[in-house]
Amino acid sequence: MTGTACAPAALCAFSGAEQVLARLRTLAAHAPQSLVIEGGTEADRKTAALAWAATLNCAGEPATRPCCRCAACAQIVQGVFMDLKTFGDQEKITTDEVREALPEWGQPPRGNGRRVSIFFAAHEFHPAVANLLLKTLEEPRPGNVFVLLAPQRERLLQTLVSRSFVLTLPWPTPQPPEPDVAEWLAALLNFWDTGQGWFERTGTKGAADRALALRLLSACQRELTLAVAGDTAGETLSSPAARRLARLGPAGLRRFDLVLGQAQEALNQPTVMPALVLDWIATAMIAKG
Ligand SMILES: [Zn+2]
Repeated sequence: MTGTACAPAALCAFSGAEQVLARLRTLAAHAPQSLVIEGGTEADRKTAALAWAATLNCAGEPATRPCCRCAACAQIVQGVFMDLKTFGDQEKITTDEVREALPEWGQPPRGNGRRVSIFFAAHEFHPAVANLLLKTLEEPRPGNVFVLLAPQRERLLQTLVSRSFVLTLPWPTPQPPEPDVAEWLAALLNFWDTGQGWFERTGTKGAADRALALRLLSACQRELTLAVAGDTAGETLSSPAARRLARLGPAGLRRFDLVLGQAQEALNQPTVMPALVLDWIATAMIAKG
């Protein structure tokens, strides 16, 4: 494979870029109307999305797109390209924003390539936004393509995923949790199996403070990522916690992800007791599963 010399490097500097760019070039021949980019880090996904926009609009040789030197590539890097629209880069995507874009999506792009609309953090879509986008994808929009970024496809509305081509970036390697958090995590998983040993823990005064609760949440998120990634790749998981989570199955993993998201929001409220949030996580997964 020939290496793409990327002058500003802005479109090529992400994990697994060489293979991903080759894949994008192949895809560009019959660009799917909707592309989901999962895996990698948030920054990786963002760069890959911009690289996709550049691949579809670059003036360079098809075999070396994006060239990173032509006007289109440079403007895409700077975020000023006329046929590039981004949503949710800074703030949550609103229905108004999407509605305002509808007339433009009914029009062909202004340049010779494709109009690329990128939705950052598509997993945080408000249901109304997701539905609006679904309707958009159901109607042919000549010259318009959409990109949805999410950590894992499981975190998107299934109907959106089924209408999209999914590109998976190399999964980041999560660091194992620190010993105290690992102990809490093991206790949580043990509680799911035995119904024991949890409330003694959270009931001990001062044991579960906000900092610990947040660290436990991110450890859970990490194991969830591993479980989902392992499930997708059909691999045997080396982390026992991820193996236990994988037993929840796709629907259970999705539910755990929602539970973690709600717990995170609850912990952001200073009046909420961290121990109660942890108890809620422990029981929410038992009650329904
Ligand atoms: Zn170019």
